[in-house]
Amino acid sequence: MAKMLVAGEEVESKNRETLEVKNPATGETVDTVPKASKEDVNRAVEAAEKAFGKWSTTSADEKIKLVKKAIELILSKEKELAELLTREQGKPLKEAAIEIQKFCGDLEYYAGLAKNIRGTYFYPVGEGRHGWVIKQPIGVTAAIVPWNFPISLMGNKLAPALIAGNTVVVKPASSTSLTAIKIIELMWKAGFPEGVLNIVTGPGEIVGEELIRHPKVRRVSFTGQTETGKRIMSIAGPDLKRITLELGGSDPMIICEDADLDKAATGASVGRFFNCGQACLAVKRVYVMEQVADKFVEKLLEKVKKLKPGNGLNPESRMGPLHLKSQLEKVESQVEDAKKRGAKVLHGGERLKGPEYDKGHFYSPTLLVEVSESSTIVTEECFGPALPVFTVKSFDEAIEKANNSPFGLGGTIWTKDLQKAAKGATKLQAGYTWINSFPIMYDELPFGGLKQSGYGKEHGAEALEYYLETRSVVVNAD
Ligand code: NAD
Repeated sequence: MAKMLVAGEEVESKNRETLEVKNPATGETVDTVPKASKEDVNRAVEAAEKAFGKWSTTSADEKIKLVKKAIELILSKEKELAELLTREQGKPLKEAAIEIQKFCGDLEYYAGLAKNIRGTYFYPVGEGRHGWVIKQPIGVTAAIVPWNFPISLMGNKLAPALIAGNTVVVKPASSTSLTAIKIIELMWKAGFPEGVLNIVTGPGEIVGEELIRHPKVRRVSFTGQTETGKRIMSIAGPDLKRITLELGGSDPMIICEDADLDKAATGASVGRFFNCGQACLAVKRVYVMEQVADKFVEKLLEKVKKLKPGNGLNPESRMGPLHLKSQLEKVESQVEDAKKRGAKVLHGGERLKGPEYDKGHFYSPTLLVEVSESSTIVTEECFGPALPVFTVKSFDEAIEKANNSPFGLGGTIWTKDLQKAAKGATKLQAGYTWINSFPIMYDELPFGGLKQSGYGKEHGAEALEYYLETRSVVVNAD
């Protein structure tokens, strides 16, 4: 049984309850994790609170030294960590390894900013008066992480939190806690002091909410569904806790008549089917100009046919299973709803069958055309391997349809026309826009959704600001 890591100790839940972690490709039990009680959450927060005093004044040099050691230890175990992540999450090994590297990249990026955290100085602000603007860490922060990218998203939260001088309690998704625990263990081995970094496991509605409600948790950083984000906001709101919410999306991709169709088709295929379509920033709706629609769809179809679904541990697999049975059922119902409303299935549109697939949550990569705009695959977030392609008559129509969504996370435009690209980049309601590129994120660029896709930013120097309080001090030197 895996254990939680709290106050420098490996611990079980006080009530001894556990949860099973299942392999989504085979249904086999990978391990069990503790189902934390209220007492366990309290112990983790108290430990983080106790550690905050010293950690908040730890030098940048010391933090950088610890981060370097942690990266060395984590990368030395990359292969086994990636294997464990594939077994608990389902994604292909190569994608799992990228996550481990991304986590280390996050640590490295924020360690690089550690010596640049500073306030400002004004003189005089009044006669003989000096004004300081100082930046200080907030205190205990809760990092609540989903199952789709359990490790890289954990890095997005704990790297800026720790470098800014906060202490952290991580709450991973119950179904993907194992690799996260191993990684925190390695960070402890690297020398992060007792209490600075803790991990508690269990269901969000119990463990997550307890964490958010705890009076000593001053900041909450959450990634997950929009509905959960709304609930978290309502719990954190009365105490005015600092929050960032990275939520759902339904990202559009617009393909203009002058686009490089080969590259656009690759962009749509990678952007939709990476991580079996279970990505917040994923191509979830395609709007293609009618002049090139047939040609584009033909090229995309060719790519979709080549995707090889299978157990992520098999190096031949290009797409793993859906992570949860409920997720499989949801995607299935969205595709069925689209079919009922007249959609034509060009590929897939059903569960995969056969000895390799029967025990897992496998769904075929699915391409749909002639889809009604009122289908749930359009009106809701589709978190799986199904892509509707719409034909449009003009760029303005594409932008209007793209923006007709409660979400505003990302968006992509393919065109060689600079004017169109510039217009699109400002008109598209998205926190992250790519022109002639598939969706890929960079450490230095701030990321966060508009509308119901989120609140606040992760990545970049901006994210550090969310882990710091800005205070003013006046010194009368007269
Ligand atoms: P989820 O909201 O069900 O769960 C996310 C985390 O929150 C888990 O750790 C869960 O245990 C916890 N949780 C659940 N209910 C809670 C509650 N009431 N209080 C506190 N914590 C609670 O999300 P999911 O299904 O695991 O993840 C998929 C969703 O995440 C998708 O909607 C996806 O678009 C979104 N997502 C967004 C981003 C982004 O950066 N914008 C990135 C990845 C995923």
